[in-house]
This record gives sequence, C-alpha cells and structure tokens, in this order.
Amino acid sequence: MRKIRLLGDPVLRKKAKEIEKIDEAVKSLVKELFDIMYATDGIGLAAPQIGVSLRLFVMDDGTPRALINPVITFKSKETNVAEEGCLSVPEVFENVERSNEVSIKYFDINGDEIEERLTGYSARVAQHEYDHLDGILFIDLIPASRRFAIRQKLSNIIKQSGKIHSANKP
Ligand code: ZN
Repeated sequence: MRKIRLLGDPVLRKKAKEIEKIDEAVKSLVKELFDIMYATDGIGLAAPQIGVSLRLFVMDDGTPRALINPVITFKSKETNVAEEGCLSVPEVFENVERSNEVSIKYFDINGDEIEERLTGYSARVAQHEYDHLDGILFIDLIPASRRFAIRQKLSNIIKQSGKIHSANKP
C-alpha cells in the first residue's frame, strides 16, 4: 500500500493533471484510495496525497463516492467555520471557513457525468479534497496568527515528510 504523503512533499503542492481515460489503472487507483482512506479512518482522500498527481478524490459522508476530474461550479456566499484535519498534516486541527453549499460536477468510475449539490459537512469535505488537486492545504486557509502558533508542529511534519520521501525512492 502506498504511503500518505506529508506536508513538505512537493507532490502536495502541484496542480494535479486531468485524467484522460477511466482505464483499469484509474479504477485500481480508486480502489487503493478507498482502502487507504478506510484504513486510516479518513473521510476523504485525494490522489496527490498518495503521490499521484491526478484530479481524483474519494470521500465517504455516508455515501462513498469517487470524483474524477471534479469541477466546483457553485460556491455559496454563506460560509461557516468548523474544525478540520488532514491525513497529510497529522495531529493538526484548525478552524477553517468554507462555503455552506457547493455544486460539484465530476465523472464517476463508470464515466457517467454527475452534478451534485452538497451542503454542510459533505460540502466541507468536498471543498477540502478539491483543494488538494490545486496544491492547496487547509493550513493555507487559517489566519496567519494560528499558523504561527502551530509552526513547530508543522516543521516537525516537514522533517518527517523528508524521511518518508527518501524511503520511497527506489
Ligand atoms: Zn487533506
């Protein structure tokens, strides 16, 4: 099983590429993302988080979904603030402001185009995972004062990330 990439790993900061064809490789990547997400008690996981820079994430808010080439087509002006964490930034939990409601268009594993309106918790998870595809992490969205307060934690994760990265090299 591939390792979760941690803050400091350059793959988390890249803009991920669109998936051109939903082939067997993509299907097995989706399965792997679900396996790792459930094994780590996550509720969402994006492909870059396991080192694959493609526009794909999985989430399970009660309904397991794989979202291929997702596009957020609507974000409500109304926002709310709630605590988030991320498997790539372990043991850090911070309040993040997100839109209450989003519409998201994507292809599912069968290649069917789907557009969904998500609210509340589901909207939050989708926005967090979608950000990963553009190289954005939730700690980028917190006030600078909070980022300063957790700087030691973040720098420890970056150190750890370097170790995992080199351990993965052939
Ligand atoms: Zn995350």
